[in-house]
Amino acid sequence: MKLKGQVAIITGGAGGIGRASAILFAGEGARLVIADINPEGAAETADLVNDSGGEAIPVRTDVTVLSDLEKMVAATREKYGRLDILFNNAGIAGPGLLEDTSEADYDLTLAINLKAAVFGCKLAIPEMKRTGGGCILFTSSGLGMRAFPQALAYSLSKAALIQLTRSLAVQLGSDNIRVNALCPGPVDTTDLFQNMPLTGTAEDIAARINTERPVPRFGTTEEMARAALFLISPESAYITGVALPVDGGGVAC
Ligand code: NAD
Repeated sequence: MKLKGQVAIITGGAGGIGRASAILFAGEGARLVIADINPEGAAETADLVNDSGGEAIPVRTDVTVLSDLEKMVAATREKYGRLDILFNNAGIAGPGLLEDTSEADYDLTLAINLKAAVFGCKLAIPEMKRTGGGCILFTSSGLGMRAFPQALAYSLSKAALIQLTRSLAVQLGSDNIRVNALCPGPVDTTDLFQNMPLTGTAEDIAARINTERPVPRFGTTEEMARAALFLISPESAYITGVALPVDGGGVAC
């Protein structure tokens, strides 16, 4: 029970990495708020947690809307009276090459992947300070650690999350708040990866990605959830300001 007594918000918790993390965190004793723009998926995740003896509520949240973020934090305080962990995980793949990037798609990608994380933290940090500290975790990406012109806005947003991680870690250390980033490699989730504007069939893309890394396969949502758990649990008590690649060695190449 590494998270006993802790309360966590997971954004993007309706599926994929967020759902796998919800199930794992709940099994370690965390009580959860599942925040997602997809209310049915968020409710399904909460049901999965509650049916297996955990505690979770779904809160329909569009992370690009500040008043939704305020409601998400208010719902957490109302239900559980505290907030210990913010897992800023919602994200979209966004457009492709620079020449294919419209202003609207760029703005939306940065709004979901970056701005929401900034303002989510702004609202969550006072709650954490009130009860003596906490943990913030961002889902960045291996593509935030190296060049990836095929999804320019995405990789910019994910790189900026790493800088946000460092900046907040430095600012919040004395408040007993640790801040880290999870940097997944390719994970075969519902639609995020499939939407990436890469050339070739899905099979071609998968084959190329697999031969590009020392561990020649996609990661699983459970593998991402286990790394996320490590970064928010007391096992990583001396780790802050870190971007951890969980990518089969992709960024080492
Ligand atoms: P996913 O599509 O299953 O999860 C993304 C979630 O974000 C969805 O539940 C979606 O409804 C939610 N979301 C989208 N827009 C939102 C909004 N405006 N407000 C609230 N929620 C919103 O895919 P995933 O792979 O589980 O993605 C989780 C995170 O992992 C993302 O940040 C993604 O960029 C990152 N990531 C994924 C991969 C991969 O290969 N799948 C690799 C690196 C990083």
